[in-house]
Amino acid sequence: MEFIDAKLAAALVAGTDQRERKEIEDLARQRLCFLVDYAREHSPYLKEKYEDLPENYRLADIPISTREEMTELFDRWVCDPEITTEKVDEYVADFENLFTPFLGKYRVISTSGTTAQPLRIVRDSRHIAIHDALMAERYFGGPLLKDVEGLNEPDLKQCAIVAPGGLNSSYLSFERVRRSYKARGIEDRTLFLSTLAPAEEMIRKLNEFQPDVIGCYPSVIYTLAFEQKAGRLTIHPKIIGCSAEKLPEENRKFISEVFGCPVNDNYCSTEGGEVAMLCPNGHMHVNSDWVIVEPVDRENNPVPCGVKSEGILMTNLACLVQPVIRYRMTDSVIMHDEICGCGLNTPWIDIDGRVDDILEFDHNGTTVRMPAVLFELCAKDIPGCDHCQVIQRAHDAIEMRISVMPGYDRVETEQKILFSFRQLFESNGLGSIRIELVNKPLERTRSGKLRIAFKEFV
Ligand SMILES: [Zn+2]
Repeated sequence: MEFIDAKLAAALVAGTDQRERKEIEDLARQRLCFLVDYAREHSPYLKEKYEDLPENYRLADIPISTREEMTELFDRWVCDPEITTEKVDEYVADFENLFTPFLGKYRVISTSGTTAQPLRIVRDSRHIAIHDALMAERYFGGPLLKDVEGLNEPDLKQCAIVAPGGLNSSYLSFERVRRSYKARGIEDRTLFLSTLAPAEEMIRKLNEFQPDVIGCYPSVIYTLAFEQKAGRLTIHPKIIGCSAEKLPEENRKFISEVFGCPVNDNYCSTEGGEVAMLCPNGHMHVNSDWVIVEPVDRENNPVPCGVKSEGILMTNLACLVQPVIRYRMTDSVIMHDEICGCGLNTPWIDIDGRVDDILEFDHNGTTVRMPAVLFELCAKDIPGCDHCQVIQRAHDAIEMRISVMPGYDRVETEQKILFSFRQLFESNGLGSIRIELVNKPLERTRSGKLRIAFKEFV
């Protein structure tokens, strides 16, 4: 069970999500026991942590883990003594390294983390084989996309509209595709577009390129759907894959109708891998044979199905080298155990993810739509910028609120952010937008969430 190659992974994944619920749960249970045994044998820290587990332990008996614990005790957490924080940091510091295996056999994911300690996750070949198989079988081969013709052709024109940046997983996946195309001499069948590119440039390049496959953020493709509807954008992709933000079902239907192709979505995480995938009924089915998601409240007590949780405990049953077992995450979900009707017998979840607000401006009679993710990306790499908020106060005016990290000059940081925003507006033909910087705390919703951008005027 320790070593799983691509062939075995495909066999283990195929059809399992259509088996009886009890059978799927039993498989997960066996894999959990294997993982816990492995962790106790190979991880110096987890050996101590799990010392008092009863003989016939239940999932709930296993102590909960936190991000702080995992990052601080990383060297003693991992199951291979060759892996150290120092070596991982050195490896991720050079972008080129990310395309050759770490220590000859692992893949590394790390958050960039400017304030907090970065989270480093090492994935072994077992994880990679299983999660590749989950993608092949349940995403591309799943009920939503299985009937799309020509999806297996090796030279499909691939386009990614994502944020550039070395450690961003969507960017990295696209870069892997680009490099493999380059090696085959067909690099011109890939197109990378930065989410921050002006809408006009995006439309022109997409019309020229005519992608078969598009990977993007839901809010960005949603704004592009309006361009397609208006006839300025005329592309005919075979599929559109969304990630990273919540994709409301009505937006998914609209995008799918306008582009005339299926729109897929999945829920993946650094710690859990490919956690859940969409079915034609619009339900996110958990890959519960390989990933366990436990909805919990603030104190980590279990939250029943149908009730919104305040967090989840994630268990990744595929990765052995860095065990993720009952690991606390702040994602809020509603678990559904009722049968979906799509043929899959796995439970499904509503993820209370971020739905990006979209601001609308007028440019010579056409509407320019800017999703909040643009504002966030525009500010994120400016040193000292903690958060910024854009409140649209009129058709041609926005108010900005900025929180600056301690130790940075407020005025200097604000000026840099303002400059970057002016450039963003100008590049979208909106140079006349009035920007007012207001020195007030950032507004939060009643539940404490920060909205990056919203409209507030009558
Ligand atoms: Zn379903």
